[in-house]
Amino acid sequence: MNRLIIVFFLSSLIATSQNHTDLSYYLPQDINYNQNIPTPESVIGHQVGEWHVTHDKLVQYMHALAKASDRITIEDRGKTFENRPLLLLTITSVKNHENIDAIKKKHIDATNNNAVDIKDMPIVVYQGFSIHGNEPSGSNASLLVAYYLAAAKGNYINELLDNTVILLDPSLNPDGLQRFAYWANTNKNINLNPDPNDREYSEVWPGARTNHYWFDMNRDWLPVQLPESRARIETFHKWLPNILTDHHEMGTNATFFFQPGIPSRTHPLTPKLNQELTKNIGNFHAEALNKIGSLYYTEESYDDFYYGKGSTFPDINGGIGILFEQASSRGHMQESDNGILTFPFTIRNQLTTALSTLNAAKNMREDILKYQHDFYKNARQEGIKEATKAIVFGDEKDAAKTFHLAEILSRHKIKFHEIKQDFTANGKRFKKGYSYIIPKNQKNTRLINAMFETRTTFQDSLFYDISAWSFPLAFNVDYAENVSTNNLGEQVTNLQQNIGNVSKQSDYAYLIEWHEYYTPKLLNQLLNKDIRTKVALKQFSMNNKDYDYGTLLIPVQNQKLNGTGLYAFLNKLAKESHIQIDAVKTGLTKGIDLGSRNFKTLKKPEIALLVGDGITSYDAGEIWHLFDTRYNITATKLDTKTIGRANLNRYNTIVIPNMRSLSEPNTKKLKAWAKNGGTIIAYRNTAKWLKEKEFIKLDFEKTNVPAKNISFEEKSDFNGAQVIGGAIFEAKLDRSHPINFGYKNDKIPLFRNTTVFIKADSLSYNNPIRYTKNPLLSGYISKPNLEVLSETVPVQIKKLGKGKVIVFTDNTNFRAFWYGTNKLLMNAIFFRKEL
Ligand SMILES: [Zn+2]
Repeated sequence: MNRLIIVFFLSSLIATSQNHTDLSYYLPQDINYNQNIPTPESVIGHQVGEWHVTHDKLVQYMHALAKASDRITIEDRGKTFENRPLLLLTITSVKNHENIDAIKKKHIDATNNNAVDIKDMPIVVYQGFSIHGNEPSGSNASLLVAYYLAAAKGNYINELLDNTVILLDPSLNPDGLQRFAYWANTNKNINLNPDPNDREYSEVWPGARTNHYWFDMNRDWLPVQLPESRARIETFHKWLPNILTDHHEMGTNATFFFQPGIPSRTHPLTPKLNQELTKNIGNFHAEALNKIGSLYYTEESYDDFYYGKGSTFPDINGGIGILFEQASSRGHMQESDNGILTFPFTIRNQLTTALSTLNAAKNMREDILKYQHDFYKNARQEGIKEATKAIVFGDEKDAAKTFHLAEILSRHKIKFHEIKQDFTANGKRFKKGYSYIIPKNQKNTRLINAMFETRTTFQDSLFYDISAWSFPLAFNVDYAENVSTNNLGEQVTNLQQNIGNVSKQSDYAYLIEWHEYYTPKLLNQLLNKDIRTKVALKQFSMNNKDYDYGTLLIPVQNQKLNGTGLYAFLNKLAKESHIQIDAVKTGLTKGIDLGSRNFKTLKKPEIALLVGDGITSYDAGEIWHLFDTRYNITATKLDTKTIGRANLNRYNTIVIPNMRSLSEPNTKKLKAWAKNGGTIIAYRNTAKWLKEKEFIKLDFEKTNVPAKNISFEEKSDFNGAQVIGGAIFEAKLDRSHPINFGYKNDKIPLFRNTTVFIKADSLSYNNPIRYTKNPLLSGYISKPNLEVLSETVPVQIKKLGKGKVIVFTDNTNFRAFWYGTNKLLMNAIFFRKEL
C-alpha cells in the first residue's frame, strides 16, 4: 500500500466511526418494522443525522412514505415565499383513514355541541418541527417519527393509530431549514470537528432561524401574516388539535426542556387545567428521557403568555401546546458543558419526546378530549352571558386597513358582520363598508378576548416575548367594546377588499386622500412613471368634500401621458391599490386652490435599506417585507460590508433599522452623503449611535433604578423588570406635520421595545408626535420607565448640512401586523423634503 492509500484508508475509517449511526440508535428495538416501508436512508441517500436534511430531500422522503404506507396521506397546503411546499401528513390507522372526514366532523362537532359523546373518539395531535430553521434536529427527527409511524408493527402501534389522528408537519419553516442545511453541510468536515470556533458553528448574517423575509415565524400564530402561518392556521382550525407540539433548539450548553414553563407567566385567559395536563404529559417525556439517560428540565424558563407562539396558541383554542427545546449542536458535532454534543443525539431526544407525546396522548386520551369539550362548553356559557354584546371596529377613511384586520378574524374562523347602518360609539363614527362588528356570543369568544383585550396589570414582570398585542391598537382602528348586537348587519362569509376606481375622466386634475393603507403603493407607481404629483400641506374642501392634509394632486396638463392615457393609468392603479380617485374640473376650492404654493411637487425616492452585520435582522426584514410585498417599492438591500465600495449618490434615502455599529470609514461616508442632501431614516438604538457619531444632537432621558434590598438571586429578575420587551403606548399627533399625514385621529398607539427615551424639543412644532402624560395602553412597563417615558418624543427630525436625519425610537413596522404605524415610514420617505 502506498502512503496515499494508507492515509485515505485511515481517514475513511475515522470518518466512518464518527458518522456511523444506524436506525437502532434512534428507534425502539423491541418491535419489528415493516420491510416494505422505505427507510429514510434508502430515499435521501444518507443516514439521518449524517448530513443535515435539505428540504427537497425531506419532501421526497415524505412522498415516498405516503406512497408506501396506507397509514399516511400527504397534502401540499401552499408555498413558502421561496416556493417550497408546505406539507402535511395525516397519520392514523387504515380504518380511521377510511372514515377520516367523519372523524374530523365529529371532532369538530364535539367543540360545538355539549351532547356529543367523546368517549370513543380518537385524539388529534399536531406535531410540528423546526419553525426556527437553524434548530434543525426537529425536522431531521421528523423523518424518523414518520418512518416509525409507518413501519412499526405490533399491538402498541395498532392501538396508538386506532386512537390517534396525527397531523405531522415535518418542517414549519422550509426556507429556513434549507438555508441552514446549506450552511452546515457546506462547512462540514469529513473528520467532524467539534471546536466551536469552526466556521460550521457560526452562520453568516442573518442566520437561518427566520423565513425568507427574516421573520421569526414562531411569533405569527396569532397575526397570521406569513404564507407559512396561513397554511398552518388553516389546518389548525380545520382540526382543532388536542395537543400541538413545537420542537425547537436552544444554546449548546443546555440540556433538554419541555413544558410547563414558568407557572407565574401563564396567560390568565388560559384555564388552570391546561397547565396541569401539560404537567401530566410531561411525566411521559421524563420517563422516556430517563430511559435513554438524557438530562432535562421544566418550569424554570420559557412561558405560556404570548398567544402568537406555537406552544401557546393552542391554549386559547381548547388545545394544549407543548414546547420542546433541545440543546443545539448547531452543526454536526460540538463541544459543550455536557461533553461532545452530536447532531444524532439531538435528533434522538426530539424523536423520543415526539413518541412520548403520542404515548401520553394515547394514555390521557379521554381526559384531554374532555378538557377540550369542556373548554368550548364553558366558552359558550361565557358567550351567552354576553349575548347582546359586540365589538365594532373600523376606520371611515381606510377600508384596506380595516379589511386586513377582518382578514385575521377570517383566518381564525371568528364570525363577524357588516354593520347595519352608520352609527357612533365611543365618540367615533362607524361607517358601513369601513367597519365590521363581532358578536361576543360565538364559539371563539375566548380567542376574541385574547386578540382585543388591553391589559396593564400582571402577575410577573418578566416576559419571554411581548407583553401586549391588542389588535385594534396595532391596526390603529377606531373600536368600541360592548356595543349592542342590534347593530349587526349581514354576516361576512366572503370577505372582499373594496374595489378602487376613478370617479370620471377629467381634463383638469385628480385628487386622492392619503388615508388609505395602499396610497403609498399608488404614489410610488405614479412617481416611477414620472407622473407629476403634488401633496397638499393644508386642508381644503371642494364639491362638498373635505380633503385632509396630505391629499395628492395630479394635474392633467403637461404630463407624460395624455388625458386618456392618464385616466387609464389611474384606473389601473386605483384597482390595484383599492383606492378612490376623485376627478375635479376646477382649481378653485374652499381653502388652498389647486395652484397654491401649499401643493408641493414630490420627487421619486431612491432607497437603500442597510442590512448585514451590526443590524437587527428582524427589523431589517420587516422593512424589506413592507416595501416588497405591500407597497411594491424596490429598495436596495445595501450590506454593511459593501457600503465602502457602493456609490451612495444613487440613493436619496437610506433606511437604517436598529443598528449596533458601523465601521469608521463607512460612518464617515454615510455622514458625507447625508450632508450633501441625503435623508437618513433610523430606528431604535440607531438614534443613540447617530448622536454618538455626531450626526445630530439629541437629548436622552434615562431611568435610574438603584438595586436596593435586591439579593444576588433576584438580580436577573430585577434587571429583567426594567426591560420594555414590547408594549403599547399612546402618543398625541400634530396632524398638520407631514410625518403624520394620513392619520385622521389626533392620538396614535405605538409599539415600543426599547428604553431609548428622547426629550421633547423646546419648540413644540418640532415634536410632531409626543407621548401623552399617562401613555400606557397595554402591556408591561416598570413604574420608573413609565415615568420617564411620559411626554418624551418617539420621533425627531433634524437637519444635517443639506440633508436630513429622521429618527424613530419605536418599531413602527413590527412583525408585519402593526398596520397602524406603517404610514409613518412612508411619510418619511415620500414627504422627506417637506419635513
Ligand atoms: Zn426556536
